Order: sequence, then structure tokens, then C-alpha cells
Amino acid sequence: MELQRPDWDTYFMMIAGVAASRSTCLRRRVGAVIVRDSQIISTGYNGSPKGLPHCGEVGCLRQVLNIPSGERHEICRGSHAEMNAIAQAASVGTSTAGGTIYCTHEPCSFCTKAIINAGIRRIVFVHPYPDPLAHQLRAEASVVVDRLPETVFASVAPLLEDIFRPTAAR
Ligand SMILES: [Zn+2]
Ligand SMILES: [Zn+2]
Repeated sequence: MELQRPDWDTYFMMIAGVAASRSTCLRRRVGAVIVRDSQIISTGYNGSPKGLPHCGEVGCLRQVLNIPSGERHEICRGSHAEMNAIAQAASVGTSTAGGTIYCTHEPCSFCTKAIINAGIRRIVFVHPYPDPLAHQLRAEASVVVDRLPETVFASVAPLLEDIFRPTAAR
């Protein structure tokens, strides 16, 4: 019997999905993982800066004012998963140059600028996000972009039965 294992892209995207579960954003949970040479060097999820109260505790103006998706990011105290993953690498002195970033959602133009400047050369995402400037910037910078199918997360579930099943049921 052939052993079933997810490929690297699926594996790292699953981990980005787990990172997203830690999000403190009231609107959307997003996760990101930065990888170099098939090693995870950083993870991030969207939420307020480290140690500060998050939107669920002190309120989010974007939520209160019912601001449409993609607009007025600056009035939310949260920062994006991709930014947080890059900042996390910086805080521990790990180079992101030449790396790949796995994002549950397609990066916005703000994050795309940071991704380019961090020297990250490939973006992998699942859920699309309409930001024409982001598309233009990453094309100009020749960043490789790959989209994984939305079934990617569910595809790994059958391989996880061993850890999902309680010990008593074995
Ligand atoms: Zn917020
Ligand atoms: Zn962003």
C-alpha cells in the first residue's frame, strides 16, 4: 500500500490555515507561512500588534462603520498576516530573502509591497482577493504567483484521522 502524504505546497498551506485559526480579526481569518528551502521560518495571522488589545476587546471601527472589504484598512488596529509573518522573521533576525510565502488569502497591495521588499520570490494563495495594484506590483517585480484549489484544506483531512480519533476509540 502506498503511503499517502500531502505535497509541500499543500503541507505549508495547511499550516497557514492553522495559523489563521489564531486570528483576532472580526471580519476574516487569514494566515501566512514563510518558507525557505522547505523549512518554515515564520508564521503570522491577522490581528492587533503583539501584546495590545484586539478588535474583539476594544471594538473595530471598520466593523462599527460597516466599511466594505478592501477599504480603509488604516482605521483597524489589526495588521495583516503577511506583514506579521515578515515582522516576526525580522524580530528574530531570520532572512526572508528568496523565500516563499503561503497565504490563505491573496495578499493585498500593502502586503505585496512588503513581500517584494522582504525579497520573497513566490506567493502561494488559495482564496482570491481583488486588488489590481497588488497584481500589477508583483508582476513588475517578477514574483512567481501560484493559486491552490479551494479543496486543498479538505484534501488533507482523511490523512489526519489518526490524530482526530480519541485514544479510547482505537
Ligand atoms: Zn479591526
Ligand atoms: Zn495585506
